[in-house]
Amino acid sequence: MYDVAIIGAGPGGIYSAYEMIKHDPSLSIAIFETGNPLEKRKSPIDGDKIKTCIHCDPCSIMNGFGGAGAFSDGKYNITNEFGGNLYEYIGPEKAIELMEYVDQINCAHGGSKTKLYVNNDRKIAKKCLQNNLHLLKANVRHLGTDVNYIVLKNLFEELKNDVHFFFRTHIDQVTIDKEDYVLRSGQETFRAKRCIISTGRSGSKWMESVCAGLGIRTRSNRVDIGVRVELNADTFSELTDSLYESKIVYQSKKYQDRVRTFCMNPHGVVVNENTNGIVTVNGHSYDDPEKYTENTNFALLVSNRFTEPFHQSNQYGESIARLSNMLGGGVIVQRFGDLIRGQRSTINRINNGFVRPTLKATPGDLSLVIPKRQMDDIIEMIYALDRVCPSTASDDTLLYGVEVKFYNMQVEVDNNLETVHKGLYVIGDCSGVTHSLSHASASGVYVARKILAE
Ligand SMILES: Cc1cc2nc3c(=O)[nH]c(=O)nc-3n(C[C@H](O)[C@H](O)[C@H](O)COP(=O)(O)OP(=O)(O)OC[C@H]3O[C@@H](n4cnc5c(N)ncnc54)[C@H](O)[C@@H]3O)c2cc1C
Repeated sequence: MYDVAIIGAGPGGIYSAYEMIKHDPSLSIAIFETGNPLEKRKSPIDGDKIKTCIHCDPCSIMNGFGGAGAFSDGKYNITNEFGGNLYEYIGPEKAIELMEYVDQINCAHGGSKTKLYVNNDRKIAKKCLQNNLHLLKANVRHLGTDVNYIVLKNLFEELKNDVHFFFRTHIDQVTIDKEDYVLRSGQETFRAKRCIISTGRSGSKWMESVCAGLGIRTRSNRVDIGVRVELNADTFSELTDSLYESKIVYQSKKYQDRVRTFCMNPHGVVVNENTNGIVTVNGHSYDDPEKYTENTNFALLVSNRFTEPFHQSNQYGESIARLSNMLGGGVIVQRFGDLIRGQRSTINRINNGFVRPTLKATPGDLSLVIPKRQMDDIIEMIYALDRVCPSTASDDTLLYGVEVKFYNMQVEVDNNLETVHKGLYVIGDCSGVTHSLSHASASGVYVARKILAE
């Protein structure tokens, strides 16, 4: 029997435990996590011997201490403009205050020497605007994959004596017995007075079943589909030198769709990502200059929102990603010039280009995978970016597909992030309220304070 049971050791779960234990060490808190402790998380995908997902259980990329963000670029965006809509629940000032508080914790645990970028360069914003591109404002703490790991390691060291960690413990079911929450994992049963669910994107299907079982309402209508763009770092240096990560939004002329840049990695690498067994693409970069590559990568994503009667937005995204896996055995890479000329890329065409790919992907034809509407949107935005950063639309620019940003269904929670059941909170990405490290972490702190106040 615990005072608080937390399901999921991602940022949401970690920061809620941290905040509670710091202010009330007498609380008995347990964290249940499907994956491994941080040091045991190792994905076999090396892009060489093992190129595609071999369906490890648990998946070390998505599961384990640190959650989906453990090997991420560690970009903590302090903003209400993207990364979730936590501010709609708790208010914009509170959301920013909590994100700044999380930043202080990260700095106190190994991140203090990393850079905080302030994205408010008016000259660049004006240049973007003149080309129909909208630069979003944000402060970005870039921990980098290496420092992010150190911060997580230090947080674990601080928590491990006061919080009961149960690794490789997948919670199968959550039920309510009188006023307690009962968590089942295989043959084992745990009870708690309060329960915080923070199972992230990888726990989205599981979350659906929990909501169905407990009569919690949900809705789902969005998925973002696109490609990861990789080009010479000099092409984008005007943006990345002063902003590090620029979030730029474009409204396509043809369809009036929103296309945006996402997860920009100066001097970074393109990587595989595994979501529910489907290999998609992502990117990251390192804080250590010795690990810099000559390329910059970022995603271009088209937002797709569906209306009645369609509810399966994530399945739509998965089907498109599956197509690329079917044709390419994983991620497909194509030169922008090949795409425009209507021809597939081949190993020779890629090797003859001037941009050296940082991910071993299968050269192919993305127009066979990505629907015309999204492809047209992406091409339009590449030409718009070319006017801000000339040579973005060069023949050699590489496009990797498919990058999909799945959104969890929105779980019905109130302004305390509490469900209809008293003491049952749903936070982080599995709630649909957040989709970033900083928002997920802030939601954890917020709920911890609510519980402490009670
Ligand atoms: C490759 C990659 C790079 C990223 N880069 C960035 C970035 O730079 N900046 C940014 O803001 N965001 C980034 N993100 C997104 C970010 O990682 C997530 O938004 C964030 O981790 C969400 O935190 P969370 O705690 O809600 O969930 P998660 O981090 O997903 O953690 C959930 C945890 O719950 C566990 N779990 C799930 N179901 C169960 C169950 N039934 N029982 C027990 N445990 C369970 C999972 O194993 C997982 O460890 C990245 C994501 C990926 C995959």
